[in-house]
Amino acid sequence: MTGFMRQKVVKTREPHICFGCGVKHEAGILMLVVVSVDMGKIFSTYWCDVCDAYWGEYDLGEEDIDLGSLRLEDPAGWHAVENRLRQKGEQSLMLGQEVKL
Ligand SMILES: [Zn+2]
Repeated sequence: MTGFMRQKVVKTREPHICFGCGVKHEAGILMLVVVSVDMGKIFSTYWCDVCDAYWGEYDLGEEDIDLGSLRLEDPAGWHAVENRLRQKGEQSLMLGQEVKL
């Protein structure tokens, strides 16, 4: 059982692997940081804008997500979201956006 504590959009200062798609993203982009508690330990995961949009679209709810599984388990759906974001130049993330849960 994982509890999400907090999530915040940051501009990365170093490369981070997105937990949703497993892709290593270069520094200087917007990513969503999710701080969560699992088995009494606090840890942070990074999510790219495509995975954030994908999550919002498919509403995965409480489903367990493994590293990279958003992209690996549904490559067509994930790339469709990516293409749409890139074509429209949409930003699904906004800097400083913060949600306390
Ligand atoms: Zn991602």
